[in-house]
Amino acid sequence: MTTAIYPGSFDPITLGHLNIIRRAAGIFDKVVVCVMVNSAKTPMFTLEERMELIERVVSRLKNVKVDTSDILLAEYAKRYEHAVIVKGLRAVSDYESEVQMALVNSKMNRRLETVFLPSSQKYTYLSSTVVKEMAKYGSDLREFVPVEILQDVIERANKGR
Ligand code: ADP
Repeated sequence: MTTAIYPGSFDPITLGHLNIIRRAAGIFDKVVVCVMVNSAKTPMFTLEERMELIERVVSRLKNVKVDTSDILLAEYAKRYEHAVIVKGLRAVSDYESEVQMALVNSKMNRRLETVFLPSSQKYTYLSSTVVKEMAKYGSDLREFVPVEILQDVIERANKGR
């Protein structure tokens, strides 16, 4: 059984993330969406909130689970018998840093492969940062975030105004 680990900040989960999750769930036996702790960023949603938002969005995808990790991804992956890392690639700009990370991870854990899925053309422009920016200005977010969490994002953005 191969488990695909999909790591990220997911602050918040976007339709671009969900597209990658669905596609990975169709390829691998199991997908673990892993919310990584990144102390360098000040998030819009707490770790627990981000996990809950993702859980709500993926609840109908039976082979998708949500987890969190504050250790190195290469170490975390050792918890699974056969794990691969899944990453979405939006543009050439993602490529350089993602390939660098993939090489670092395979250096630390030789059995760990990284699989890249090209972003769907519809979502190549989309990032959590874009969502937060649009939310601040009261834009229509329906094309960016899953409907299940739309209200949460709007309310959180309004609080910060
Ligand atoms: P963001 O850049 O949106 O803050 P994360 O740090 O949560 O994203 O990203 C987690 C993973 O999801 C990364 O592999 C990133 O390249 C991928 N990803 C993010 N947005 C998209 C998208 N719109 N389409 C495809 N992959 C994406």
